[in-house]
Amino acid sequence: MKIAILGAGASGLYSAILIQRLLPHAEITVFEKETKLGKKLYATGNGHCNVLNRSLLPEAYNDPSFISKALSVIPASVLMDTLRSWGVALREDGNLVYPLSYSAESYVHYLFSYATNLGVHFVSPFLAEDYEADHKGHYFLLKNHEKIGPFDALIIACGAKSAPRLGSDGSFLPALEKHGYHLIPFRPGLAPIKLQEDIHLLAGARHGALVKAFDATQQLFQEEGEVLFKKDGISGIVILNAESAIYRRNKVNSPRLEMDLFPHIEEKTLIRLLSKAKAENASHYLSSLVSEPFVRLLEERFPSGNPVTIAAHLKHLVYHVKGRYDFMDSQVSLGGVALNEVTNQLESRHEKRIYFAGEILNIDGFCGGYNLSWALLSALLIAENFKADKGRMTKII
Ligand SMILES: Cc1cc2nc3c(=O)[nH]c(=O)nc-3n(C[C@H](O)[C@H](O)[C@H](O)COP(=O)(O)OP(=O)(O)OC[C@H]3O[C@@H](n4cnc5c(N)ncnc54)[C@H](O)[C@@H]3O)c2cc1C
Repeated sequence: MKIAILGAGASGLYSAILIQRLLPHAEITVFEKETKLGKKLYATGNGHCNVLNRSLLPEAYNDPSFISKALSVIPASVLMDTLRSWGVALREDGNLVYPLSYSAESYVHYLFSYATNLGVHFVSPFLAEDYEADHKGHYFLLKNHEKIGPFDALIIACGAKSAPRLGSDGSFLPALEKHGYHLIPFRPGLAPIKLQEDIHLLAGARHGALVKAFDATQQLFQEEGEVLFKKDGISGIVILNAESAIYRRNKVNSPRLEMDLFPHIEEKTLIRLLSKAKAENASHYLSSLVSEPFVRLLEERFPSGNPVTIAAHLKHLVYHVKGRYDFMDSQVSLGGVALNEVTNQLESRHEKRIYFAGEILNIDGFCGGYNLSWALLSALLIAENFKADKGRMTKII
């Protein structure tokens, strides 16, 4: 059996390893447009690669019911067991799972050499433009005027549009549209947010906060985390998650963020702390509570220095969302091949033995290992389709 995998990102690599282990005699070739294999993986988790989330809460994804269904076939515990069965040593930090090496680079080196030793072939650089099928149902990949094949199955793991410098630039999407797949439009997900308010005085500041996101009618999101302030926007994991929660919706209607910079301190306690600092050190009392960029902002906005007004402000910051940063700064794409185009085991409903893995499908998760978890979960679902081939191949052998 010959299998072509399009894309040597996480989901293509995981699919290759799973199927090669299942079918040692299969000829699996992974085609990758970048010279460097696994380019995006090197950048994950700030170079540490948050490979999995142990809890795998379906609510962390845009389509919780699809994920719940997937988890009823492949329980969350199987993901860690799978990596461990490949010899990957893991460390857990709460629900966040990392390679024990704590190094994305080592993780990439380990897995690509493992795949190669299993017998997987990698071809790079290879920019696939399209594919076609012959009358026997075999597939061929098309590049310039080259036609590579035949293959019995094709796994499309080409990612989406986020972080194009790391490979996923949407170059295969026209081919999918041409073959009649319904693509939910791609939008940047897990991206920093631009604000209507002028926050340039806060550039460089970081502050823990309870962040809530709303649209005109309802609350969409709530989470605590560190907010990083930039000249024209805000970032940090909690903000990236808020951005996805806002922009997952079809229509984004007057989104705003509300922040409590001191969620564990009551407002009256803050007033008391401010009043005490002011009594002791009137010229620099704000420095007792907040970092210097906030000091400058509060001094400008509240020249009278009333502790009651300042405490209320710090507990109830309101920012109106102007937009978000683009794909360049986004970690995952919202949108993708519509889920009704595939079976529960991710086979195309209208082209036999074509499968979709990872971010190309309309699934996106929050920060915290949810997207690499999906890359593995989707590969595990696809591998289920090949279990029948194992039976057939063993009989032949
Ligand atoms: C900076 C950053 C940090 C992140 N950190 C984390 C993290 O710590 N934990 C987590 O869970 N998620 C993280 N993510 C998200 C996660 O990395 C992705 O969701 C995941 O890697 C997607 O895997 P994929 O295989 O589906 O797609 P990709 O990783 O995008 O791989 C697709 C591959 O296909 C190739 N390709 C595309 N088009 C073609 C073509 N026409 N021909 C040939 N090859 C093609 C691309 O070059 C690419 O190598 C991070 C993302 C970024 C950008």
